[in-house]
Amino acid sequence: MKIKEILTWAEGKIYKGTSSDIPAREAEILLEYILNISREKLYIKLYEEFPSEYLEEYKSAVSERASGKPLAYITHRKEFMSLPFFVDSSVLIPRPETEILVEEVITIAKNIKNPSVLDIGTGSGCIGLSIASYLKESSVSVTDISPEAIAIAKKNACHLSLTSLSFYCGDLFEPVKGLVFDIIVSNPPYISPEEMNTLPREVKDYEPSVALFGEEKGLFFYKKIIADAKNYLKKEGFLAFETGITQASHVSDLMKIHGFEQIKIVKDLSGIERVVTAVSSEQLPVTS
Ligand code: GLN
Repeated sequence: MKIKEILTWAEGKIYKGTSSDIPAREAEILLEYILNISREKLYIKLYEEFPSEYLEEYKSAVSERASGKPLAYITHRKEFMSLPFFVDSSVLIPRPETEILVEEVITIAKNIKNPSVLDIGTGSGCIGLSIASYLKESSVSVTDISPEAIAIAKKNACHLSLTSLSFYCGDLFEPVKGLVFDIIVSNPPYISPEEMNTLPREVKDYEPSVALFGEEKGLFFYKKIIADAKNYLKKEGFLAFETGITQASHVSDLMKIHGFEQIKIVKDLSGIERVVTAVSSEQLPVTS
C-alpha cells in the first residue's frame, strides 16, 4: 500500500478514537516520528510504497494515539517557545498558554541587569529553560518535587545546550533555602481534584496527577508560594504565575494580602485571565 493510503487509514482511526481537531496532521506526525523524517520529506514520499518494516510500529503508534495517549507522549516531543522539548508521562506537556507567562517574565527580566530567576515546579523545564535560552545573561534555577521531572529538565537543558542552570529536587522553596532571586515564576498544579472528571481523557488518564491537581479549589500551591515568596525575593522582586480559569482574581487578592503591588493580569487568546504578575513591596528577613 502507498504511504498516502496508510495515512488515510490512520487519520480515520485517530478521528474515531479521539477528539483531535487535526487527525490528518497527527497521522503524519506519527509517521514522521517513526520514519525519522521531516514533514517536507514525507510529502515527497506520499505516493511511494509504505516501507513494510515500519508498518507494525506505525500501526501500534496509531492505536496508542487512538486509545487516547497524547501525541507528545508517543513522539516524546513538544515545541514550546519555538524550542523542542523532550517529554514523557512523568511531566506535564507544555501548553501554548504558558508561553504568555514566559513572555511576561522575559519582558520583566529585560529591565533587570543579570536577572536571577527561580522556576518552581519546572516539570519538563519549559518555563525556566525558555527564559535561559532567550535571555543569555540570566541565571536560572529550577525546582521540582519529582526526581523524574528534574532528570527530564536536565536532559532538555543538555539538548538546548544550556549549561549554566541550577537544578534542585524538592518541595517548593525547600531546596533553595537561603537564596534570593529577582523573579520567581511558577505554573503550579491548579486543577481542583473535584474537577478531575471534567478533564479530557488525554489529560486525566495520562498526565501526572502531581503536576495537575491542587487542593483548596486549585489554590493550594499559590497560597504556599505567595506566603513564602518574599523570603526568596530581592527587594522589589517579581512574582509571576500562570492561573487556571477564574483563579486570577483570587491569586491577585492573595498577593495583595501578602504585600505585593503593581498587580497585573494578562489574558490568553481565549480571553481567560491566565497570568498574574506582581512586585514585592518590601523585603522581609529570611526565615527558616
Ligand atoms: N512548569 C511546567 C509547565 O508549565 C510544569 C507545570 C506543572 O507541572 N504544573 O509545563
